[in-house]
Amino acid sequence: MTKQLTTTGNTNLAAMLNIVADRWVILLLRELYLGSSSWSQFVEVLDISPAILNKRLRLLIDTGCLIKEAAPGKRETRYILTQSGKDLYPFMAAAREWQIRWDKRKGAFVSPFVHDCGAPLRTYSACHACQKPLTAHEIAFAPGDSIIPNSEESRHFRLSSNTGADRRSPEASIGKFIQVMGDRRATLIISSLGNGALKFDDIGKATRLHPAIITERLRKLQLLGLCQQRLYQERPDRFLYSLTTSAQDLFETATHLRQWAQKWLKNTHDANPGTHLPCQQELVAVLKCQSCHNTVDYDSIQPIF
Ligand SMILES: [Zn+2]
Ligand SMILES: [Zn+2]
Repeated sequence: MTKQLTTTGNTNLAAMLNIVADRWVILLLRELYLGSSSWSQFVEVLDISPAILNKRLRLLIDTGCLIKEAAPGKRETRYILTQSGKDLYPFMAAAREWQIRWDKRKGAFVSPFVHDCGAPLRTYSACHACQKPLTAHEIAFAPGDSIIPNSEESRHFRLSSNTGADRRSPEASIGKFIQVMGDRRATLIISSLGNGALKFDDIGKATRLHPAIITERLRKLQLLGLCQQRLYQERPDRFLYSLTTSAQDLFETATHLRQWAQKWLKNTHDANPGTHLPCQQELVAVLKCQSCHNTVDYDSIQPIF
């Protein structure tokens, strides 16, 4: 099946990645879910400049995920998750599960949560219609699911640098999920590969990124084990690029993002939610606990320290 990228109108996934495909936003959400709510709590674990922290908090407020609660007296201003912010939890939990599954290096921090049933949190996504666990190869997407944003709706801020940020994880082992999903350009390349652009020039056309950036990000994705290359022509050497199983598994987090955007973001369209092939129903994912198989949401988990 050949897939084409559309560039007219923001799909809800594109709109969503404009918000969360940023290292700082992912780290801030993680801290909020762990119970942090104040400036001093954020800077205790994130090596973040005041200007950047301010911008990201503002973005989460503008997106409707946070409200600012001015505190009387000497207490610090608190940042409180709204229902919309809490609804992003399945995305972050699916991301956390991806991190556990695909980053075998030691030392990358994984948020310690326990589910209502008492088991340490491990999750999987199931089809809402048939309740079967979702796998990448049992889902079909029709053409048109672009994550390239409209040019007039560019990002609020410059892309994250690759410098250290997370005091919970030493620099050498910052979570693989954050390295991938916190890098908007890497997500563009993963999306274009998933849409069938397998040659270097096709990736350029699909993503509109500079060739030097594409080279650098393809190398990064190969080092992280998300992308592989195969020589298909010699002199000059040309390669076909493809996604590995771990990259295909990112569909799960993307599905939760898309569903969040469908519920909470205005002025986006659901280009293509996908079909769950075993039941032929439209893809709607629910996050489940591996231990009790009940639904996992923000209200059914607790951080443990
Ligand atoms: Zn199904
Ligand atoms: Zn459970």
